[in-house]
Amino acid sequence: MTECLFCGIVEGSIPSEKVYEDEHVIAFKDIHAQAPVHILVIPKKHIPSVQQIGEGEGMLLGRIFSVINRLAKEHGLSERGYRIVNNCGEEGGQTVHHIHFHLLGGRALTWPPG
Ligand code: 5GP
Ligand code: ZN
Repeated sequence: MTECLFCGIVEGSIPSEKVYEDEHVIAFKDIHAQAPVHILVIPKKHIPSVQQIGEGEGMLLGRIFSVINRLAKEHGLSERGYRIVNNCGEEGGQTVHHIHFHLLGGRALTWPPG
């Protein structure tokens, strides 16, 4: 069994509430939702953080963002607005070291974050 939590979710050995899946990307509900809509969108491929993103990942990032926008639309957020968050590294607040983008919405979000 993989040691990476999100690789476990990709493989299905760790249960999750999936809301989208294709060949390269999956999205599932965050277990500790911080907003009425809180979805994590991840590549199936294990990439530790945005620090490993280069030009070679352009296609994958494009897919991830089109999935995010599709989910935002499906959850009625397109008109209301929403937030996409990536936490990177310790001081950035990253706790799971498999790159993921948070899609948050459904309430007015404050800025700046803590
Ligand atoms: P990070 O802090 O790394 O940006 O975000 C990790 C996110 O993963 C957190 O919002 C946390 O609630 C979520 N999370 C942690 N463990 C699990 C889990 O087992 N299942 C799901 N669905 N989300 C998780
Ligand atoms: Zn992983």
